[in-house]
Amino acid sequence: MDYISTRGGSAVSAGAAILKGIAEDGGLYVPSFFPKLELEDLRNMISMDYAERAALIIGQFLTDYSEAELLDYARKAYARFDGEPAPVVGVDDTTYIMELFHGPTLAFKDIALTLLPHLMGAAHRKCGSDKKTLILVATSGDTGKAAIEGFKNVEGTEIVVIYPSEGVSDLQKLQMQTSDGNNVHVLGIRGNFDDAQTAVKRIFNSKEANEKFNKLGYSLSSANSINWGRLVPQIVYYVSAYVDMLGCDEIDEGEAINFVVPTGNFGDILAGYYAKRMGLPVNKLIVASNVNNVLTDFFTDGVYDTNRPFHKTVSPSMDILVSSNLERLLFELYDRDAEKVRELMDSLKEEGEYSVDIDRIYEVLPEFTAYSTDENGTCATIDNFFETNDYLLDTHTAVAVNAYNDYLTETGDNTKTVVLSTASPYKFAHDVYESVSGNDEPDAFKAVKKLHSYTMTDIPAQIKELEYLDPIHTGVVDVKDIEEAIFAFFNKDC
Ligand SMILES: *Cc1c(COP(=O)(O)O)cnc(C)c1O
Repeated sequence: MDYISTRGGSAVSAGAAILKGIAEDGGLYVPSFFPKLELEDLRNMISMDYAERAALIIGQFLTDYSEAELLDYARKAYARFDGEPAPVVGVDDTTYIMELFHGPTLAFKDIALTLLPHLMGAAHRKCGSDKKTLILVATSGDTGKAAIEGFKNVEGTEIVVIYPSEGVSDLQKLQMQTSDGNNVHVLGIRGNFDDAQTAVKRIFNSKEANEKFNKLGYSLSSANSINWGRLVPQIVYYVSAYVDMLGCDEIDEGEAINFVVPTGNFGDILAGYYAKRMGLPVNKLIVASNVNNVLTDFFTDGVYDTNRPFHKTVSPSMDILVSSNLERLLFELYDRDAEKVRELMDSLKEEGEYSVDIDRIYEVLPEFTAYSTDENGTCATIDNFFETNDYLLDTHTAVAVNAYNDYLTETGDNTKTVVLSTASPYKFAHDVYESVSGNDEPDAFKAVKKLHSYTMTDIPAQIKELEYLDPIHTGVVDVKDIEEAIFAFFNKDC
């Protein structure tokens, strides 16, 4: 299968799309068509384990990889999880939680980022590239550590992670700063995620920067969800959740279900939309945002306007105003009209906003609906959910549960619904502890211990060991100095 750019550039193979990360015209790669899953395929998947399901689904998109090869990569990637990668837990008659945080860094990003290094290594061999790869990552908190865990000590690869120094949780920051690995570089910036993402995109699109890195022997690639290799593994868990529910007779064959997704860069929920386009029976895709609710407004009135204050919240991985992957949805909204997408993206770049006909959204994308939650709502949801269900939500998943409650109040819809749980509550121990107990514990590790005593939930080993690791990567620079600081990592090396 070929991959085409949302802005009209020429088609490339799956391997090339994964190596490049972003198209030369600045657009994002999308599959040239959506392969189909029949109900029979879903039924056949019931007896498969997660890695087998992954190989089957990903194989439909990455046709230059063999299914045996993909199965091998998936087995290696998912062996790094503590148990199942995407278990579905029933909460009440209609609500289910899909836990996506059992990987090495305790966030859903692990599901794609444990696999991506294998996909990229193979793409190198397939495309006959002689360059080393330099992975540039902008992170709102979770992608950084997940990418480091995926790519550290991978031969022929260097990884640079850029994060907002004051925009992540203490434990997220420590996870990144204490990372070992001989090819790992981490850089804090005095700015927010959008600044980090803009800088990374600018470097990707700069001929000069690319030539400079080429001279040093590197070609650039991305581990953000703008990379197709990040997105395609995320389609799998939507299908897998459905198959699990089918296998346990929670749903009938063909019965449509809802998914609620805590959303930032729009990668996760877009994978759900792609699963639907493949034929998965999906009723609603509920976009859940925190007070950075630019997507809620977009799905309500068709206006995407980033000219608004940026809020730091207790769900920092969703503190994003420019949701890059929405570009891929616009491409579908306009029947794959690259000209139209370019026009909208130019407007975003120049004016910080664009608008589309809201009736078109209702007509072409009827599965989407969106809600946002303020900080009090997020904390109250963690508290209520723990009281009612004895289940501890993290701050991001709480935004999703709150959105689902609003959706239920508004519609009374009794469709079975899966809420995607994207992180362990222990990554955000301070705010989760304060939500359930009413007490503020500023020390990150004391908060971890108090959360454990208060809720009697297990502290993940990755959090426990953090306390005894020393920060190695402590550099912080201004936004204008990002590019220079990245070059400095490599000039030092040679
Ligand atoms: C990244 C992240 C999100 C948002 O996912 P997108 O794909 O960016 O929409 C939500 N929750 C957590 C915990 C995350 O790390």
